[in-house]
Amino acid sequence: MHAHLGSTVDNDAMATLESKVSSVLGDRTSKVLDSTFGIKSVGDLLRHYPRRYAVRGELTDISTLQEGDEVTILAEVFSATNRPLHGRKGSIFEVIVTDGKAKLSLTFFNQAWREKDLRVGRQGLFAGKVGVFKGKRQLAHPDYELIPDGNDVDSAVDEFAGKFLAVYPAAGKMPSWKIAQCIDLAIQGLDEVPDFLPDKIREKHGYPTLHQALVQLHKPADLDHAEMARERLTFDEAFLLQLVLAKRKAALKSLDAIARPAVVGGLLQAFDKTLPFELTAGQREVAAEIESDLSQSHPMHRLLQGEVGSGKTVVALRAMLTVIDNGGQAALLAPTEVLAAQHLRTITKLLGNLAHGGMLGGSEKATQVTLITGSQSAAARKDALALAASGAAGIVIGTHALLGESIVFNDLGLIVVDEQHRFGVEQRDALKNKAHTPAHLLVMTATPIPRTVAMTVFGDLDVSTLRELPLGRQPITTHVIAAVEKPAHLERAWQRIAEEVAKGHQAYVVAPRINATNNEDADMDFLFGTETQSIASVEELGPMLHSGPFSGLRVAPLHGRLSTDVKDSTMSAFSSGEIDVLVSTTVIEVGVDVANATVMVIMDADRFGVSQLHQLRGRIGRGTSPGLCLLVTNAMPETPARVRLDAVAATLDGFELSKIDLEQRREGDVLGANQSGTRSHLRLLRVLRDEALIESARESAGKLIQEDPDLSGFKSLNDELKLLETDSATDFIDKG
Ligand code: ADP
Ligand code: MG
Repeated sequence: MHAHLGSTVDNDAMATLESKVSSVLGDRTSKVLDSTFGIKSVGDLLRHYPRRYAVRGELTDISTLQEGDEVTILAEVFSATNRPLHGRKGSIFEVIVTDGKAKLSLTFFNQAWREKDLRVGRQGLFAGKVGVFKGKRQLAHPDYELIPDGNDVDSAVDEFAGKFLAVYPAAGKMPSWKIAQCIDLAIQGLDEVPDFLPDKIREKHGYPTLHQALVQLHKPADLDHAEMARERLTFDEAFLLQLVLAKRKAALKSLDAIARPAVVGGLLQAFDKTLPFELTAGQREVAAEIESDLSQSHPMHRLLQGEVGSGKTVVALRAMLTVIDNGGQAALLAPTEVLAAQHLRTITKLLGNLAHGGMLGGSEKATQVTLITGSQSAAARKDALALAASGAAGIVIGTHALLGESIVFNDLGLIVVDEQHRFGVEQRDALKNKAHTPAHLLVMTATPIPRTVAMTVFGDLDVSTLRELPLGRQPITTHVIAAVEKPAHLERAWQRIAEEVAKGHQAYVVAPRINATNNEDADMDFLFGTETQSIASVEELGPMLHSGPFSGLRVAPLHGRLSTDVKDSTMSAFSSGEIDVLVSTTVIEVGVDVANATVMVIMDADRFGVSQLHQLRGRIGRGTSPGLCLLVTNAMPETPARVRLDAVAATLDGFELSKIDLEQRREGDVLGANQSGTRSHLRLLRVLRDEALIESARESAGKLIQEDPDLSGFKSLNDELKLLETDSATDFIDKG
């Protein structure tokens, strides 16, 4: 059985993980492994981990097989018949296999000779794609490998001596058992694998050595051993990742930054006196953390995450004022022009006199706030550039335009990035380069990230969390409205908006599209005379509502294709209460803050993701009146889309919702990593499932770096880390 693999095992020259596969398996098999899976080294091969284990004698439940699945099943031959084809040359050999209950048909064309193999009662692994023929599930021309029975006494016996058969991710030319054979040979020829995990850490967790783990994962004595092996290898992934992050954090600590401690009698204290509300306990706590960071002579590197409406802006503003009190400047990077303009408005308003530096009537301590965006006039930009360059503007707010080469600061001491997820690392770096000495960094996000994701993706950022909302906030009630089943409810929704407006409040109506002109679906509906539901658009909905349920109300559209001037004036008119209903796309998704808005109707809500809906919903209920959010959908009950909406309606906990969001995405998307690469160091780790493991890996990594910052006593660990750092699969790690 080994012969066809071209085995060239030579016991005198033992293989290492770095050895070429061809040194163990011969050229032909090696080429197939490389072209199919990109497996080049023995290490690559051994890290082709089993998906699961088939237990000898325990047959696969055939009833669970779905059409289209690529499967490898353990089953028993129930019957085998060969019959000639009707009216054609050739024959069909049909084998029925069973798990004892359900049956599955295997068909072979012109292969009657297989009859001597596939005898009734034999068990084997069968692999192929599940198809359906005449209503019956079948595998056409499956690959198979029979489990030796008592009559087979040959060298193959030891292949299946174990009770547990590893089932591998397989592909056409490489069915699961061929991979198993290759791995078996590789293990036979393998020299003891050196372990990069420090003994102390391995022993503390009671893990097997790397060599033992690799062997036990592929050829487990029992499922407990397999599980232990898998845990050890998963821990490795988490541990290496956390080490990279811990090292990075240590490196950051060794950078010099200008300390900007709190100043008595400065701008910050003057500001605190004018603040129209008390900071929440959470805000005070985070403020203290930031204050302590800023007073250090190495750069702050902090992520501030907080529920929508939890009041992150004030916290950030206070940090900016601290830096200004120390003669520095702060840059506030916003993801959209709408948001940048809003920040300018709210910050200028909150500062009052304190923002009128150098002007008549300005306070003596006052600074200036300026805005830099891509679409502002040349004159406005020139003024803003001058204020930033001279240092007269203590706060420079802007969009991506802030990163332009012409923008120079006098002394950039703090960078605040609002709504982090919209910015790439490069963009943040571009801004950092504008500081003469490393600047302090505060990253804010309203998309709560579960702790483990934060630890994995932002492991080198310190995390502050604002969980509570300012006092007096009224909760938002959310309902799902099934537009098709209950059209009267949609009518009622418009009525509710009119009632809120009558009470002096304002409302949002959100639609997924700007207009319907590019609606290919609609064209198709027309062509085929079908009447599927079209998707709501701002340009259709606005006039329709205005001439219908909202007649007499002040209704205005807002979307990304409007000019900046129009967007700006619409937002300020809405902020100041001159517009009753804003019919908008998701441009209002992040950050927009109008406390008087109390109702939101989201059309075709199933078109949006869970976190996005939560963000949108966060635009209401920001004042002291209760908020109402209505999710309108055509999705039918019990469908995944509808279940998602029900989940959003059921909770206001952003952390809970972000978990739901993450669970629905593939791990690769969560980590932003390309999981297809064979060198990937992240094969087993799952950020949500492996929370406890990541915690303990983080702890171990932190301790080790503390004891030995350069890991000079751990050469093989260092080598492994270098491999990880060059692995593109870890590009997602925030290079901070
Ligand atoms: P987010 O965290 O979503 O960015 P904001 O910073 O926009 O939230 O704050 C939401 C609203 O709450 C703003 O109008 C802000 O002025 C107000 N706010 C912030 N802190 C408090 C507080 N401690 N008490 C009352 N209102 C507050
Ligand atoms: Mg905000």
